[in-house]
Amino acid sequence: MSKSSPTKYIFVTGGVTSSLGKGIVSASLGKLLEARGYSVTIQKLDPYINVDPGTMNPYEHGECFVTDDGAETDLDLGHYERFLSTSTSQANNVTTGRIYQSVINKERRGDYLGKTVQVIPHITNEIKDHIKILGQTGKYDIVITEIGGTVGDIESLPFIESVRQLKWEMESDAISIHLTLIPYLSAAGELKTKPTQNSVKKLRELGLQPDILVCRTEHHLNSEIRRKIALFCNVERDAVIESMDAESIYDVPLLMQSEKLDQVSLRKLGLKDETTVTLNEWNSFLRKLKNPKATVNIAVVGKYVELQDAYKSIAESFIHSGAANECKVKVNWIHSEEINADNVSEKLQSYHGLLVAPGFGNRGIEGKIESVKYARENNVPFLGICLGMQCAVIEYARNVLKLKDAHSTEINPDTTYPVIDIMEHQKEILKKGGTMRLGSYACKLEDKSKAFNCYKNSEIQERHRHRFEFNNDYKTQLEENGMKTTGVNPESSLVEIVEIDQHPWFVGVQFHPEYKSTVAKPQPLFVGFVNAALTYSKQH
Ligand code: GLN
Repeated sequence: MSKSSPTKYIFVTGGVTSSLGKGIVSASLGKLLEARGYSVTIQKLDPYINVDPGTMNPYEHGECFVTDDGAETDLDLGHYERFLSTSTSQANNVTTGRIYQSVINKERRGDYLGKTVQVIPHITNEIKDHIKILGQTGKYDIVITEIGGTVGDIESLPFIESVRQLKWEMESDAISIHLTLIPYLSAAGELKTKPTQNSVKKLRELGLQPDILVCRTEHHLNSEIRRKIALFCNVERDAVIESMDAESIYDVPLLMQSEKLDQVSLRKLGLKDETTVTLNEWNSFLRKLKNPKATVNIAVVGKYVELQDAYKSIAESFIHSGAANECKVKVNWIHSEEINADNVSEKLQSYHGLLVAPGFGNRGIEGKIESVKYARENNVPFLGICLGMQCAVIEYARNVLKLKDAHSTEINPDTTYPVIDIMEHQKEILKKGGTMRLGSYACKLEDKSKAFNCYKNSEIQERHRHRFEFNNDYKTQLEENGMKTTGVNPESSLVEIVEIDQHPWFVGVQFHPEYKSTVAKPQPLFVGFVNAALTYSKQH
């Protein structure tokens, strides 16, 4: 398709209940369209009033995903990037808070020329503008816009109204997909369509007729049920798409392909669907994922372990790097508060690798430091991410350099040895939202380092999210005693990577490698770490 053709829009809404997997269905559809040669991006509209999820507790919202341009975004953007080959940016995630902030700023500037500022048209126009931004870049044939929340929520009404208006204005250049649940009542032995009928009815009351229904179900939909849903919901028979529960989220593109979600979408958008889609790379990834030749046990020590969404990208990175190593990575999430000097070896001895997770604040910090010590002293492969890397520096300073109360000034502002300290430009910052060192920065690697071995490249770009940093005042002392700084930002000299020469695989990184791991490009450090764990498992 030539870029002079208008960008096509696919709107994805959800009904009946939350957590039906709109993000995965959107990413799967995006993947299939991309495999047919279309350039695709996916956007998420979130109805909450926070300007972005950066200030939200992971217990509230799961992981905050960081993009190259430093946007703190919804974790669904992580799925979009892991499935597609395009990276996302701030424009791919818009919240009610951001919309209102922008409208209120305009009002204060006098942009509305004395008009009463209202939800319709001012808020809805702002939403429509934000939806159209990605199309206007001229980079995409198709923009998929996922609307967070469930139809009927008060919060999502302005978004649904904006979609209604855009569909009206764009005519055949826009379609809408509604994702619903078909529950199975075991007492009756039947799948039930009524919740779906009601959800579509609700959507139509708001002026939006779905073109396609994706029906999440635990049992196959027979042709009678499909016919009934089509008839009662005003959709064509082949636009009733079954979405069976899958063993892995990575199976969903194939399920959607066999249900022809991509072909039906293209037909309704008036686009060609002749090419056959093979998904060779994807299938080879799935084959490796499902036929592991070995298993490694990895311990992830962190403080949000009850909720794995809090470490979503880390969990997915292990899936990609496991497949790359043709092994199953069994991840065990361990709460750092439960670890102390007395029980650390009992808690960690059965693992082939230790990852200390990113995080903020004091809670569980000593458990993390004890875990690092165990991995260092016992030659267990270690990967420390962000706070995890900072813990590695603190541990080394305390136990090897004998700087007794060495710490990060985030945790102990009065430490005698601030081996991790706040970055200079962070000292004046008081506002919490969007003010950390965020997004992609360059890092130059030492030739003979483990990191270089993984990346096979001396200059890399990785994403960041932190205020505190390795204190270069301690660099010489640490290096002379065996902790090497093997990756440094070329402009600011900020240390990005530390390694221990004498250890089989000990790497701490100030950045977040997990944000850039995808099915097509498993993250090199994770691949190297899992490989080291595999070696360790064979030796022990
Ligand atoms: N709290 C640390 C800092 O701000 C680490 C942040 C993180 O792990 N993302 O520097």
